[in-house]
Amino acid sequence: MNQDSINKAAKLLLEGNVVAFPTETVYGLGAIATNDTAIAKIYEVKQRPNFNPLIVHIESLSKAQQLGVLSNDALKLAAAFWPGPLTIVTNKQKNCDIALLATAGLSTIALRVPAHPVAQNLLHTVGKPLAAPSANPSGLLSPTTSDHVKTCLGDKISFILEGAPAEIGIESSIIDCTEDTPQLLRPGFITIDQIKSIIPNFSDTNQNHSIKAPGALKHHYAPQLPIRLNAQAAIKANEAFIAFGPNIPKGYVKVINLSLAGDLIEAASKLFSALHQLDQPQYSGIAVATIPNEGIGFAINDRLKRAAATQN
Ligand code: AMP
Ligand code: MG
Repeated sequence: MNQDSINKAAKLLLEGNVVAFPTETVYGLGAIATNDTAIAKIYEVKQRPNFNPLIVHIESLSKAQQLGVLSNDALKLAAAFWPGPLTIVTNKQKNCDIALLATAGLSTIALRVPAHPVAQNLLHTVGKPLAAPSANPSGLLSPTTSDHVKTCLGDKISFILEGAPAEIGIESSIIDCTEDTPQLLRPGFITIDQIKSIIPNFSDTNQNHSIKAPGALKHHYAPQLPIRLNAQAAIKANEAFIAFGPNIPKGYVKVINLSLAGDLIEAASKLFSALHQLDQPQYSGIAVATIPNEGIGFAINDRLKRAAATQN
């Protein structure tokens, strides 16, 4: 392990860049989890067509407890399997400062303490949580060596931290510990029997459809107010408006601009906070400007269409 490379990776991350790093499961594409813009870059680099929530990596249980409320079962699982290939979904702490984009606007957070020594050292050096999905373009195989990452993303990311190959090569098991009965959300390296030996009341009934369709999470954040897409001028009283670019049509009582400059990465970074801010009873609805369907704009439009479909 080369401390100079780790320091370089940490510096680039703290400057808001995305960096690939090894974990024991697969190579991760990391960004500082409190930085909305850096998180938006992850989606842009991966060309994900949607905003699935990301796993937030921390170096220890105590750091996890600063971000999420770990139930007794969650604590038992952490004691048994951390550091290691297990992800625990918990409710967020009230003062959790993780970027809304990293958790897709949810009130829950997926947490993991990785065991790989390079990942551990990087987290320690950075001193902040890292959101990190697998370091591959959306839909392609997860990489287990730095060469895999170089081949599939080399021209798109600032730095690839070298390290021993990801030994496991399979994603972490994900367990939702927000309900009384913990649920398997995604099968992974830690088996159901291993989990049951620690928490016998565990439910794996979800296992057949547990690799959830993108955006099909049970707790997907959905605004209460009606959402009107491709909006021009206001069509009713008290409508709020989410703008994109310099043109603001007339008649809205409140406007939040996702990006005055028309920058889609900036727009993605502000999307969830704009929806949260405007989803208030004093408004009659949220109208949204047309967002170009290119690059990360696909994911923005996917999220907006879901919000509009569930509410109208
Ligand atoms: P990965 O692509 O390996 O980073 O895994 C991300 C997956 O973790 C998502 O697709 C979800 O299935 C799951 N996940 C992350 N955050 C949450 C959350 N807050 N609630 C439920 N599942 C989550
Ligand atoms: Mg993946």
